[in-house]
Amino acid sequence: MTFTLAIVGRPNVGKSTLFNRLVGKKLALVDDQPGVTRDLREGAARLGDLKFTVIDSAGLEDATDDSLQGRMRRLTERAVEMADICLFLIDARVGVTPVDEVFADILRRKNAHVIVAANKSEGKAGDAGYLEAFSLGLGEPVRLSGEHGEGITDLLQVLMPIA
Ligand code: GDP
Ligand code: MG
Repeated sequence: MTFTLAIVGRPNVGKSTLFNRLVGKKLALVDDQPGVTRDLREGAARLGDLKFTVIDSAGLEDATDDSLQGRMRRLTERAVEMADICLFLIDARVGVTPVDEVFADILRRKNAHVIVAANKSEGKAGDAGYLEAFSLGLGEPVRLSGEHGEGITDLLQVLMPIA
């Protein structure tokens, strides 16, 4: 059985870095819905015994502040629809922001299967943000560092029973 994991969250939380770590160089563009899915990157990932498809909502970086909210919502909703499980990243060094709350709300409304991850959790600088992530009300967060490759085993532990 394979599944699709969408990495979602506001710009700069480390989605693409994690995507690249999970996928390596095997990435492709998703192009079945112009304007939205061309901003979603899709790749094949392998973690332990699990093989799955991973989606990065990559199209937010060039959005202006004005266009960001609507674009974020559309992209995230599309990613949720394509995915079996959403990996919702926050930046543990920053903590939970109002924009993170908007994402949490989208995921709740969509009734998505969500794993919250406090990313950038390497070292101690992410401790407070990790604790704040509980307040999103989307379950126990996973501590991750996409850049340093930390917490990937914990992510696997959480994925295995639901995959
Ligand atoms: P995206 O906008 O969510 O796709 O975020 P990116 O993957 O482009 O990363 C945004 C910034 O955060 C970059 O400067 C990354 O180097 C940095 N970053 C990503 N992952 C980590 C991490 O695990 N720890 C730290 N300290 N920085 C990270
Ligand atoms: Mg990105």
